[in-house]
Amino acid sequence: MSTVIDQTKEIYGIDNWGADYFGVNRKGNLTVISPENDTHTADVKEIVDDLHKSGFSAPVLLRFPQLIFGQVRKLQIAFRKSIKEFEYNGGHLCVFPMKVNQNRAVIEEYLKEGSRHGFGLEAGSKAELYAALGLEQTKDSLLVLNGFKDRDFVQLAFAGAAAGKNVVIVIEKLGELEHTIAIAKKELKNDPNTPMPMLGVRVKLYSKGSGKWEKSGGEAAKFGLTTTEILEVIHRLREEGQLDLLRLLHFHIGSQLTDIKRIKNAMKEAARTYSKIHKMGAPIEYLDVGGGMAVDYDGSRTSFVSSANYNAREFANDVIWVIKTVCDDEDVPHPTIIQESGRYLSAYHAILVTNVQDEIETVVESRVPVSVGVNDKQIVHELFELRESINSKNYREYYHDALEHRDELFTMFNLGLIDLEDKGKGEVLFWDICEKADQFAQQKKYVAEEFDELRQLMCAKYLANFSVFRSMPDNWALEQLFPIVPIHKLNKKPTEYATLCDITCDSDGIVDKFVDLHDVKEILELHSLTKDEPYYIAMMLVGAYQEVMGNNHNLFGVPHEAHIYISEEGYMIRNVIPGDRLKDAVRSVRFDNDVLQSTYRKAIEKQIKEGRISDDAGQRMINFYKSQEDGYTYLSPNGYEKTKRR
Ligand SMILES: *Cc1c(COP(=O)(O)O)cnc(C)c1O
Repeated sequence: MSTVIDQTKEIYGIDNWGADYFGVNRKGNLTVISPENDTHTADVKEIVDDLHKSGFSAPVLLRFPQLIFGQVRKLQIAFRKSIKEFEYNGGHLCVFPMKVNQNRAVIEEYLKEGSRHGFGLEAGSKAELYAALGLEQTKDSLLVLNGFKDRDFVQLAFAGAAAGKNVVIVIEKLGELEHTIAIAKKELKNDPNTPMPMLGVRVKLYSKGSGKWEKSGGEAAKFGLTTTEILEVIHRLREEGQLDLLRLLHFHIGSQLTDIKRIKNAMKEAARTYSKIHKMGAPIEYLDVGGGMAVDYDGSRTSFVSSANYNAREFANDVIWVIKTVCDDEDVPHPTIIQESGRYLSAYHAILVTNVQDEIETVVESRVPVSVGVNDKQIVHELFELRESINSKNYREYYHDALEHRDELFTMFNLGLIDLEDKGKGEVLFWDICEKADQFAQQKKYVAEEFDELRQLMCAKYLANFSVFRSMPDNWALEQLFPIVPIHKLNKKPTEYATLCDITCDSDGIVDKFVDLHDVKEILELHSLTKDEPYYIAMMLVGAYQEVMGNNHNLFGVPHEAHIYISEEGYMIRNVIPGDRLKDAVRSVRFDNDVLQSTYRKAIEKQIKEGRISDDAGQRMINFYKSQEDGYTYLSPNGYEKTKRR
C-alpha cells in the first residue's frame, strides 16, 4: 500500500529527477539529503520559516554546497571506475566552466572538493580569467582558456603561468596564436626561464550534438579551427620552435547533450584528430572533451531536450572506450581526458523557493450562477439549452457548438446587437458548458487533445512571487523544463490543477510546461490556497546558468540567498546574502538614488507650500518614500505579519 507521501512523490517525480538528493519527511516537507550520509537531511520548509523570521522572506535562493561535492564525486568515481575497467592509461581531470555559475560561493565550494581530485577551472572571458587568477588551485589542476581572445587576454594567461598555474590557451582563431607567439618572444627575451602557458587548439568537428544547443558543433559552428587551420597552427609553432607548447586538443559540441550516440561519434572524430596531431610530432597529452553532460531535469532518461538517455557511468564508459580504441588503433599513448562539465556539476545545488501570493481571478472562477428568462436574447437561450442537455454521449459535439456560439456572442457584441449583461450571461454559460464537457471528457479512457487544452485554459492560475526572467530564464527563452514542487503539504494530495504566473508585467512571465515522466504536463497538481497561510513552491535544479543569465526585467532584483549545510542535526544556515533593495534596483539602471529622493522631497515640499496637502501628510509621504528604498523588490508574502530584517 502506498502512502499519500509516496503518491505525491510520484506526482512531482521527485525520485525520477532528484538524483537521490531530495526526499519528503514525515511532516510532508521537502528535504535535501546529504550525499555523504543519507540519514542527514535538511527540512526546506523549516529553513524557509527560519529565514522568514530573520526578515528574509520569499523568494529565497537556497544553495546546498554539499550537492556540488556530491556531483564532483559522482563524476570522479564514474571516470575512475571506467579507467580501471578498460585499462585506460591516461587520467581524467575536470575544469569547471565558470560561465555556468561564477558566483563566488559556487566556485570556492567546487574548488574545495575538486582540488582533492586535481580539478581546475575553465575561463571564457577576461573577467572570468581575472577572477580565476586570484583564486587558489591545486598544483596539478589546469586552467583552460576558451573563447575569443585579444592581446590582453593572452597576456593575462602569461601572468597566470608566471604565478605557477597550468594555463592552457585554447586557440580559437589564428590571430590568437600570433598574439601568443609575439608575447612569448617578448617574455623570453626578458627572462629565458619565464614559465610559458601551454597551448591547445579547438577543433571544429563534423559531428554535431543533439538537443537545443546542437549549433555549437558541426562545420558551421561559431568556434573552432578547421583542419587546414590546425595544420597552419602546427606549421607556425614549428617555424617558431615552439611546437612543444601544443599540449591539448579541445572540442565542445554543445550543452545538455541528450543523446549518447552523438557524443560517441564526436569522440571518435576528436580522438582521430588527436592521434594525427600526436603523430605529427606535437607533445600533445590532453584531450578536452568539452562540457555537455546533460542533467535529467524531467527524470525520463530519454533523449528529450530536458532529459538525457545516459548516466555518468555510461558517459564515462563511452568516452574512455572510444578514445582508448582509437588511440590503440593509431598506436599513440592514451591522453589525459579533460572534461568541462558545468551544468552537471552545478545544476542540483540551488533551489529557488517562493510563495504563491494569490490566485488570479478569471471568468472561469468568478462565475456566478445565471438564470435565463423570456427577456434574454436568443443566443443566451441557445447556450442555456446546451448547458442543460450536455451529457457523456454528446459532450464533444455540444462543446463545439458552444465554441461557435461564443464566437457569435462576441460578434453580436461588437456589432452592438447585445449589451454587457447579455455578454456576461453568455460567457458564464459558455464556461459552465466547458466545465461539464471537461468532466465528461476526463472520464473517458482516451482524452482528446482539445480537452487537454481546455483543461489548461480552465485551470487555476497561481501568482508566484518571482520573476521567470530573473530566476528561470531558460524556461522562458528555451522552454527548458525545471521540476517544481511544493516544499510542504506533501502528505496531502494536491487537489487543484494550476499553471503559474510570475509577478512581472509580461505575458511571457508564465510557467505552463511541467516535467512529466512520459510527456510534458501542461498543468501542475498543487494544493488549494488557504487564507492567511503561505503556500511555498520550489523551482528545483536551478544551479546552472539560471542565476547568471537571469535578467533585470521590471527591476526585480537578485533574490535573497542562503547557504545551507546539512549535518546530523539537520541544517545550518551558514551565510545569508540579502537580495536587491529598491535602491539597488534603480542603481542597476544608473539612477542616482539620492537624486530621486531629493526630487521627490522637493515635489512634496512644493505641494505643502502651495497648500495642496498638509505638512503632516507631506512628511509622512516623504518618510514612507525614504523607507521604501530599503524594501525588497518582490512582493511581501500574504498570511504573515510583517517582520523586520535583522
Ligand atoms: C558552455 C561551455 C561548457 C559547459 O557546458 P555544460 O553543458 O554546462 O557542461 C564547456 N565548455 C565550453 C567551451 C563551453 O562553451
